[in-house]
Amino acid sequence: MENEQIYRIGVDLGGTKTEAVVLDRADAVLLRERRSTPLAEGYEAILASVAQIVLDASSCLPPGSDYSVGVGIPGSVDAGTGLVRNANSVCLIGRPFQAELERLLGRKIKVRNDADCFTLAECRNGAGAGYGVVFGVIMGTGCGGGICWQGEVREGPHRICGEWGHLSVDPLGAACYCGNRGCVETKISGSGVEKSFRSRYGESLSMERIVAGARAGEPRCCAAFEAFLDDFGRSLGGVISILDPDAVVLGGGLSNIEELYSRGVERVRHYAFHNDLRTPILKNRLGDSAGVFGAAWIG
Ligand SMILES: [Zn+2]
Repeated sequence: MENEQIYRIGVDLGGTKTEAVVLDRADAVLLRERRSTPLAEGYEAILASVAQIVLDASSCLPPGSDYSVGVGIPGSVDAGTGLVRNANSVCLIGRPFQAELERLLGRKIKVRNDADCFTLAECRNGAGAGYGVVFGVIMGTGCGGGICWQGEVREGPHRICGEWGHLSVDPLGAACYCGNRGCVETKISGSGVEKSFRSRYGESLSMERIVAGARAGEPRCCAAFEAFLDDFGRSLGGVISILDPDAVVLGGGLSNIEELYSRGVERVRHYAFHNDLRTPILKNRLGDSAGVFGAAWIG
């Protein structure tokens, strides 16, 4: 067992917080820490802050210990150039984040998409455990996805496997930072739904408020929420038709919306190419912990 003797450090770099975990070889948690991400201070500050949290975490290990480092980021790392692509923390885009972090830490590390980390963690220890092929979804401020195949993350030659957030489903839809229009992320992420509500009704409501309004029967919120459920169904139904996974696991803040598992699943069934679709669409089990544990295991 190549990695049996080493410790694992995982870092989940989010837009507002950065979390680190240190695991021993039995996956017991030796340390877990959360700091705020200096997003407003820009790229260099984020880089330094991630390096520091890794160095601080490693100081809890016995001197001379070998350890791996995995970092999950809200974006992907180009397999060819090593540059960050499609990050919704846009200051990371085009930066050699992994190489610069390796230079600061003086060791090889792995930087991967946070949705891949989420999917791996849920497959290993969460709602996706025991399923062969799992499509993991993060629906929060942004929207990402990852695919695990027999317990391993499938990366693909461009390392974009599972990136459904930027599947363009509406040519007349809102412009996305990736350069396309009507990406899944513009339709079913929290920020996407809020933005479309604002452009349609000229009023700013949070996703939480839109969901609460829909439950209370407010007509504008009901319309926005129905469109959200329908877009969820169309987007996920298409993925299921292509991949036919054994299970789908939903994560991110919006995965707590209970209607996704009832009326949302009905819409998925409507759009997927099978009239008796049985794919389990499951709520994550690890909650906010999935990203940081997945990063540790991916490292
Ligand atoms: Zn996009």
